[in-house]
Amino acid sequence: MTTLKKENELDSYFIWTIGCQMNKADSDRLESALIQLGMGPVEKAKDADVIVLNSCVVRQSAEDKVTGMLSSLKSVKRDANDKIIALMGCMVGPKTAELESRFPHVDAFMQPQNYRPLLELLGERMGLDAEGCLTTLTPPNVAVTAYVPIIHGCDKFCSFCIIPYRRGREVSRTIADIVNEVELLAARNVKEITLLGQNVDSYGHDLSDKVDLADLLTAVDRIDGLERIRFLTSHPNDMSQKIIDAVATLEKVCEHFNLPFQAGDDEVLKVMRRGYTNAEYRSKVELIRDTVPGVSMSTDLIVGFPGESDEAFQESVKLLEDVKFDKVHVAAYSERPGTIASRKLPDTLSYDEKKLRLSTVEQIQERIVGKINERLLGETVEVLVEGHSKGKWKGRNRNDKLVFFEDDRLLQGKVVNVHIDKTSPWSMQGTAVS
Ligand code: SF4
Repeated sequence: MTTLKKENELDSYFIWTIGCQMNKADSDRLESALIQLGMGPVEKAKDADVIVLNSCVVRQSAEDKVTGMLSSLKSVKRDANDKIIALMGCMVGPKTAELESRFPHVDAFMQPQNYRPLLELLGERMGLDAEGCLTTLTPPNVAVTAYVPIIHGCDKFCSFCIIPYRRGREVSRTIADIVNEVELLAARNVKEITLLGQNVDSYGHDLSDKVDLADLLTAVDRIDGLERIRFLTSHPNDMSQKIIDAVATLEKVCEHFNLPFQAGDDEVLKVMRRGYTNAEYRSKVELIRDTVPGVSMSTDLIVGFPGESDEAFQESVKLLEDVKFDKVHVAAYSERPGTIASRKLPDTLSYDEKKLRLSTVEQIQERIVGKINERLLGETVEVLVEGHSKGKWKGRNRNDKLVFFEDDRLLQGKVVNVHIDKTSPWSMQGTAVS
């Protein structure tokens, strides 16, 4: 039976999120808006007045999951057509006509960070100017650490990636806007922020005053109450000496770089359209290590890319052995419809071969990081305590290493010196030093 509510009876919301930290950050901001409009969260979609799905398209499986969720909401809408259903995130492009015909039960389609279509609809239903009622959108439930998106979209068009087609071209937020948000977070006791973007080191090139990530880091570094600043993800071609110098000199910016290399073989890098060679990548790492003492590095790597021969794969292995990263996010290539690679490059390697290469990388990396971490045995490191887990405090050092220790004091949000007693490839155990 169809039920009808009064115009202003929008009390509850349900937000479902899939995908990267950018999506999580967007959902948090939308949640802040819904709370400011007087709504509260519920645990099940069917119990909510406003249902939002925040979608991801990086892998076909993620998009399929969203499509499945949308289909299951058809009956929810049929039973109560006054509910508002919104689709947000990378599935929504600039043109929504196709989505509208596929999902007629969805009321609002929102591209990433564009909350307006839903807010306008809520305003109409509630009889108010929803956007006018809102202050800055900061996450409602802040922890010790928080993500802050600074640039959206990507201009790079790597052949395996769908992001530029779905998230669009790079658009930077202004420094003033970001600083304002970080100040609000710091006032709410957030101690560490991670500045986010698909390609964070190209920040600012589209702004009229031509600032860059180094300028932004300098501005955020001055904010009182904040202890640490990190940033994710970088493209080697946009990592400038000025940004590296900023990491070396600014007090709160942590000595850690995530610099994806994706493949070690020059021919594979070329068909990936990454825009650099193995030698150029290595010299960027050298520059970072020469400029920032004690820096840690993580990377992203794809194995089994179309045409990756065994010799080509060995170039990736050699790069891992030579550079010795602190963390490697490795993925086996899987075809993503809509990308250049999917249109032009047959997915030639077998599932078993890809799996073998994946586990080879994981084993090598476990050995390498085990040895890197061993060097910290007996050292004292500065840990920002993020929370309590299984009877121990848990936090990270400036190099992004996970550290656990026992202590009876209330230490959440504090920076504690911890003597390292035990190490493994994944984390460290220690004792707090007074
Ligand atoms: S840099 Fe390449 S992999 Fe990263 S988001 Fe842009 S296109 Fe995708």
